[in-house]
Amino acid sequence: MKIDKDYTRQTLVRLVQINSINPTLAPGAPGEREIAGFIAESLVSIGLAVGIFEPEPSRATVLGKLAGTGGGRSLMLNAHCDTVDVPGMAEPFSGALRDGKIFGRGSFDMKGSLAAGMAAAKALVDSGVRLRGDLLVAAVADEEYGSLGTTDLIGRVQVDGAIVTEPTALEVCLAHKGYLWIDVEVTGRAAHGSRFELGIDANMKMGQFLAKLSLLERDLRSRPPHPLVGPPSMHAAMLNGGIGLSTYAPSCTLKIERRTVPGETEAQAVAEIQAIVNDLAAADPDFHAVVRPFFTRDPFEVAPDAPVVQALDRAVARVLGRPPRHIGDTPWMDAALLQAAGVETVVCGATGAGAHANVEWVELESVFRLAEILAETALDYCG
Ligand SMILES: [Zn+2]
Repeated sequence: MKIDKDYTRQTLVRLVQINSINPTLAPGAPGEREIAGFIAESLVSIGLAVGIFEPEPSRATVLGKLAGTGGGRSLMLNAHCDTVDVPGMAEPFSGALRDGKIFGRGSFDMKGSLAAGMAAAKALVDSGVRLRGDLLVAAVADEEYGSLGTTDLIGRVQVDGAIVTEPTALEVCLAHKGYLWIDVEVTGRAAHGSRFELGIDANMKMGQFLAKLSLLERDLRSRPPHPLVGPPSMHAAMLNGGIGLSTYAPSCTLKIERRTVPGETEAQAVAEIQAIVNDLAAADPDFHAVVRPFFTRDPFEVAPDAPVVQALDRAVARVLGRPPRHIGDTPWMDAALLQAAGVETVVCGATGAGAHANVEWVELESVFRLAEILAETALDYCG
């Protein structure tokens, strides 16, 4: 598959130059509407049918479709087009090319991979090959916060397979961690600071809970690690208790983040924390606490023999001259949503550094290679 390198580079530079900071993370930021307009125009110009969806005002997702002739498997190339904020960055929107790297916010996470997906579709059109299954190029909104874009797309289109092109240095990622956020509220009894016989100090009770929680935290990290993503973990992220110096604290609230590995469920993770509360309450009639999970993102895992993984493995081997490594990654991705919706999903993206950091870049050559890998995978998978 021959990649149009000029188209790829120019598209990537333009994508970086368009501010698409997620407005939920940075109030007043523009969101995806402008970048979606550019992506849609570009995809139309290379011969795709294009739709733009706005799950919320100014939050735009673009879906380009290269229709197949029928009878083959359909494949979605999924990249988010929003970015995180840019404070502290010297050149957030330059798109400058130096030493083979394109610099700027989102170049690595993940406009390089988005440009590669667009270039892969162009390579297929240019080659004159007709796929049997549909190839979809999705540039989704809001991955950096609530995944509005992929959630919305799952309700609109049905596909057999998906490649989420979050950066992996061209290796093939088969698993990532999930997470859940849990509130633990310990209730005490307010009283004047001099009246120890009336007050119940919720902060002191929380201390007892935290001491037990730290044992669980150590236990999690010593469990047999998942072969690709390592052990589960947990941290006591935010703590808030008490209302005044001369008042016994009537309540203390802890927000816990628990990182899960494939195979773990929300119910199991919550039950482990509930068990600590139950033990403390059994030993102390004044210990009262409620455990409330309030947000969950499931972990992701795909079997190495899934057809989409095998097609991608073969494509990487053809393009790089060696088989890919099968890796896992720790951050949560949209891959989990697609896989949970019954779409066999795998992750493969470009090479670079500086996601969410002050200097971000993507290696241009890896973007060209990725485009070729994605086009070859589509050829193989969609038939
Ligand atoms: Zn990303």
